[in-house]
Amino acid sequence: MAKTSIIIIGAGIGGLSAGCYAQMSNLNSRIFEMHNQPGGQCTAWKRSGYTFDGCIHHLAGCKPGYLLYLMWEELGALPNKQIIFPQDMCQVEDEHGKAFTVYTDLDRLEQHMKELAPQDAQAIDGYIKSARDFTNVDLLETPLLTRGAFAKRFPSFFKLARLGKPMKTYAEKFKDPFLRKTFPTIQYDWTDVPVFLHLNMLGNCHSKNYGVPAGGSLDFSKAIEQRYRRLGGDVEYNAYVKDILVEGNRAAGVRLADGTTCQADIVISDAYAYTTIFTMLGGQFLNDKIRKQYAKPSDSATMGIQVSFGVNRDLSKEPRAIVLFLKTPVKIADREHDRLDLELFGYDPSLAPAGKSVIKVLLNTSYSFWKELYYGDHEKYQATKAQVAETLLDALEVRFPDIKSQVEASDVATPMTMERYTGVGQGFENKLGFFDSMALLKGPPKTLPGLRDFYMIGASAGGAGIPGCAAQGRNLIQKICKQKKTAFTPTKS
Ligand SMILES: Cc1cc2nc3c(=O)[nH]c(=O)nc-3n(C[C@H](O)[C@H](O)[C@H](O)COP(=O)(O)OP(=O)(O)OC[C@H]3O[C@@H](n4cnc5c(N)ncnc54)[C@H](O)[C@@H]3O)c2cc1C
Repeated sequence: MAKTSIIIIGAGIGGLSAGCYAQMSNLNSRIFEMHNQPGGQCTAWKRSGYTFDGCIHHLAGCKPGYLLYLMWEELGALPNKQIIFPQDMCQVEDEHGKAFTVYTDLDRLEQHMKELAPQDAQAIDGYIKSARDFTNVDLLETPLLTRGAFAKRFPSFFKLARLGKPMKTYAEKFKDPFLRKTFPTIQYDWTDVPVFLHLNMLGNCHSKNYGVPAGGSLDFSKAIEQRYRRLGGDVEYNAYVKDILVEGNRAAGVRLADGTTCQADIVISDAYAYTTIFTMLGGQFLNDKIRKQYAKPSDSATMGIQVSFGVNRDLSKEPRAIVLFLKTPVKIADREHDRLDLELFGYDPSLAPAGKSVIKVLLNTSYSFWKELYYGDHEKYQATKAQVAETLLDALEVRFPDIKSQVEASDVATPMTMERYTGVGQGFENKLGFFDSMALLKGPPKTLPGLRDFYMIGASAGGAGIPGCAAQGRNLIQKICKQKKTAFTPTKS
């Protein structure tokens, strides 16, 4: 019997994962990727000897025994297993230089918080106790768990719901003004995410289940691509999928930008869901729910501007991330900022020449602001990017004296940069309610009404971060194997 053939659009983490599990299960897959390398948003780029990382702050599943760790083993994602576990999640510094360090060691964190705010001892005990509830379990494993297994493992639904309030509301538990001000920003400065997502991350950092793979995000993606090739899979690069071919009521293949058509039994799209639904499929397969969900992509690009500097400066003793409150707010591109969200890569020496480091600033922005500049006035677009870098260096100079003179390489990536390289310009919204978060954690692969043999995976189809997208790929192939009555046979790399 001929093997079931599958076309996958996009070599992002979801697409690569689906490809690997398809090959492991004796299905015949092929990936078409518009860029010249794998990874999509899980990427990095080189400038003058520096590696500017575009993605991983935290990778879930770094500890043997966890289901995500097993998945990474199957995907060959961590071949050298060198994982870095920085001692802090971040440090928040107010405009006077007073610092709240979010140590990943919960005992040390408790002590530090009580030194900062002795009158809040009771609230701090409650916070640390809640984080300890997540030191043996990881919510990001949800897509790999049955409902029953989820219920057995995790704090009860009601307990999670009680921890469903946003970071900024939870901060009101603290009386100390410094803690009240800084606490909402400690989870990537996402003040609106439910506190249980933060507690899950903190608990898992403590237990060393969340870390950072040495070498950066692109190496991580490339390792999965290598695994796919070793399994006999084929990735075609510089292959932009223009249309999904439909025959009757089923997806039958793809048409590339150069006009080539390729047929398959099943099509999976890991590309931006909006583009898949409205461009590749011409908006033919919709119902009210999907129309409402996808009809207008969000204009909010969380962490949509990434400004990286390669500096002749050793940052290895600095925290791995800083939220830096500024004495004077600065206008950067489309909005004013009273604080900056910094990542400092001194913890991974492989990303810079010896004794030097990379520092990156992440800024929220709006997609439409950059789109108008990019297409309306390209010179102004370039000038605005240069201005962003200059303004940031002025602001950083206060915390890192002489940094301006130490810059050896720099790069400003905007939502348009992301769109060009990954097809995802709008990025994601970080305003999540409790139920949105629970739905996101489960994130099953999506289908469209009236269209058979077609699936969507990836972040814009509901995958939660790198593990969520990879798990979607795994779950989808398991489902396809069941439908085709063939064995799903994951194997370790
Ligand atoms: C700044 C930033 C930091 C992040 N930090 C973390 C983190 O610390 N931990 C974590 O778990 N997650 C993190 N994430 C999220 C994570 O990167 C994404 O959830 C994940 O990488 C998305 O994978 P995906 O499967 O959706 O594919 P994508 O990355 O969206 O890739 C899709 C691929 O499809 C290709 N494509 C698109 N259109 C076409 C077409 N028409 N034809 C052919 N190919 C096409 C693209 O080129 C791309 O390669 C971060 C994201 C960002 C932006």
